[in-house]
Amino acid sequence: MGGEPTEESARGCETAGLHEARWWRPIDRGRVLCYLCPRLCEIGRGKAGFCFIRQNREGKLYSAGYGRSTGFAADPIEKKPLNHFLPGTSVLSFGTAGCNLGCKFCQNWNISKARLDDRSSEVAMPEKVVELAEATGAAGIAYTYNDPVIWAEYAIDIARVARAAGLKNVMVTAGYVTPEARPEVFEYVDAANVDLKAFTEGFYREFTLSHLDPVLDTLVWLRETGVWIEITTLLIPGLNDSAEEIEHECGWIVEHLGPHVPLHFTAFHPAFKMLDRPPTPAATLKMAREIAHRSGIRFCYLGNVHDREAQATACPSCGEVLVRRDWHAIQHYALVGNRCPRCDTEIPGVFHAGAHRGEERRTDGGRYRVRLT
Ligand code: SF4
Repeated sequence: MGGEPTEESARGCETAGLHEARWWRPIDRGRVLCYLCPRLCEIGRGKAGFCFIRQNREGKLYSAGYGRSTGFAADPIEKKPLNHFLPGTSVLSFGTAGCNLGCKFCQNWNISKARLDDRSSEVAMPEKVVELAEATGAAGIAYTYNDPVIWAEYAIDIARVARAAGLKNVMVTAGYVTPEARPEVFEYVDAANVDLKAFTEGFYREFTLSHLDPVLDTLVWLRETGVWIEITTLLIPGLNDSAEEIEHECGWIVEHLGPHVPLHFTAFHPAFKMLDRPPTPAATLKMAREIAHRSGIRFCYLGNVHDREAQATACPSCGEVLVRRDWHAIQHYALVGNRCPRCDTEIPGVFHAGAHRGEERRTDGGRYRVRLT
């Protein structure tokens, strides 16, 4: 079951800080079973799981990514992308190394396929990460770049400290995590962008080396827990961009998650092992957005392209533009709390003032505005 751990992957862990892992049990002959993600790697002594950073040392499982970051950046939250969670704020973003999926089109492959000794990682214990976020004036911390599920022990410890300090926790994930681990992995998470990579099992199996159903289960579970979720689907020409597949995806979202979960379709750019495909045409993105709206999805956005109309948030009742964006910068902000100022429709998301840190805010007749940058 799952990925074959290799000697090469084990070597990748040797220089990183080891921290005893959760979500594992011994099986036989010193081997361990990791049940953090549905890959369920069975890992022999001295070897690592598919994700590279979970390693069996002397019959115990360790997380080699603990306390090691591959670099920090203060990003606009729109870059995650999250358009309905504290728009206009920044989040301290970072990741580690490795990944539990094997996407051939990976857009972050220099991180996700790296071993920790390949990269200049820096030691950053949880309290230090939170201090750094506060020093940058960020509203929260984004666990991103590579999938935080595989370094959940580290992410949870940071998120706990961050919440106590009044910061928000944002996770960018493929949602490939077991039901056993989910409650702890997301315990302190306020918002998540979940990458729904396609809507066929065939695509998941062939191009990501994983499976679709566990991701759908995670989405349904997140929706029930109250974590704010938005979904991203990267449209790859000829592989997951047919009108039929997009209709299925949108129909499933409306039926199982509701029409108010924002959906982002983003443009593919040739990368990693998928250099033989062209970038996603603008017409495909527009088609996908039209299908989403026809299916009942209220908020559909296009990313990785310059399209101000498709990046704006409009009131689904009266059409008033509530947030206008230019790439990730906010140019116009008209929400009054969570409501449309024109027709008073409630807009789903987390928009309240008070969690908006690090930027000047002006109260103007009950309305708050994000300073334009
Ligand atoms: S988290 Fe890593 S080691 Fe654990 S099952 Fe998934 S890929 Fe394997």
